[in-house]
Amino acid sequence: MKVMLTVIIDGVNREVYEKLLKSGKLPAIEELTKSAVNIRNCYSSFPSATVTGHTSIATSSLPSTHGIVGQAWFDRERREYIGYDFEITMPDNWIDAKANLNDRHILGETWFHRAKRMGFRTFSADLVRKGADLKMSFILPGEDRDIAIPKKLFFLRRFAKHTSVKRASVAKKLLLKAFPFHVLQHEVVTRNAIKAVKAGYNFGIVWFMETDASSHIYGPESMEGIEGKPYMYDSFEDAMRDADEEIAKLKRALRDYELYINITTDHGQSRLCESEDCHVSLSAEMEEQGINAFTRIDPHEYETRVGRKAQVVVAPSGPRMAHIYLLDRGISVDVQDFLRDCRAVEFVFWREGREIFVDDGREVSRLEEYEFGKDYPRAAERVRGLLESERSGDFVVTARKGYEFQVSSYKGAHGGLNAEDSTGFAVIHGSRYREEWMEEGLITDVLRIALSRFENS
Ligand SMILES: [Zn+2]
Repeated sequence: MKVMLTVIIDGVNREVYEKLLKSGKLPAIEELTKSAVNIRNCYSSFPSATVTGHTSIATSSLPSTHGIVGQAWFDRERREYIGYDFEITMPDNWIDAKANLNDRHILGETWFHRAKRMGFRTFSADLVRKGADLKMSFILPGEDRDIAIPKKLFFLRRFAKHTSVKRASVAKKLLLKAFPFHVLQHEVVTRNAIKAVKAGYNFGIVWFMETDASSHIYGPESMEGIEGKPYMYDSFEDAMRDADEEIAKLKRALRDYELYINITTDHGQSRLCESEDCHVSLSAEMEEQGINAFTRIDPHEYETRVGRKAQVVVAPSGPRMAHIYLLDRGISVDVQDFLRDCRAVEFVFWREGREIFVDDGREVSRLEEYEFGKDYPRAAERVRGLLESERSGDFVVTARKGYEFQVSSYKGAHGGLNAEDSTGFAVIHGSRYREEWMEEGLITDVLRIALSRFENS
């Protein structure tokens, strides 16, 4: 039986990926690249955020079409804050994600629908599940059931956070060797994928997420060093090598099938600067200037809590990008002035009818006339692919290099338009494919190419 699996390894910075690949540390992926269409620079949609990226991969469309405009947005009609910030605020929002990453938010059809028409039986072990015949959990063994708190995984994250000093980690490495919590999410997903294929489902999308978490916590270029072993995640490298080992397991367990396997990532990651000054809450700073701004709650909740009129909703993603919604039109100029002067803001975008404008802090230009330069790959196309969605904020902002729009002690983040945040890779493998290299593409190309090659193979 022919089986197509798409593995999304979350939040992999392309340069770091290439470094690991070239030094022989990702042997399973390296093997796949030799009979594959490889996309060297595979750019994320904008924002370069998880739910947006996964939906762009699963639909081959940009947010203006699929509607997932970020990790968070404000539903103007329902006056509701929609948040998928589970990466950062576990475990509460996991529940939120499980209950809320619902099909109603994704507009139109996914590759699960299309693959079904091509004769596949489909499964998802990813957060995009719309249209899949079988919905496997990406955090717990087995099929997706209602809410179950992934306590162990949460424990792992907290544990990982305390081990950034390598010298102190020997005992923990031993402990984790005995109780390998670190393999939990990747391994669970691998097992679930194998289970699904053996039950007869031959088109699946699966999600390895610990790479992104370790990149946020330790920084995208954190490496183990020569002596390091991937017993636990205390670097990005550990998580990435673990993902590679799980891919090797998938290949071994499914060796009796004709396996087509696509490996890609939803977005990159950039290094944040160490200074506290680089971690900026836009809503808190607006409040300091007398603008009633808030994030992560609904307006009525804000008004009840603080007793002031809700004026501005800030909805961050990555969080190096944010949607800004005006509930009070009278405040528009003040908000725009604030954003233009804010030290953390790189670009401000907004739409007037069909026209999109960009303010880089020096001048205002039409999007199509603005020279982004090579550090912002395919920027105009990706910005338009976001701002044409009615769900977008009245303003959309990105963060300057090294900055993020939240107060945290993280060393890595994403969400922006810049190359580091936006550039990943793709390997589109079939056992009879020749090795080919494309210099660049978008994540929306991956499944389109994979299925057209598959059909012609
Ligand atoms: Zn992600």
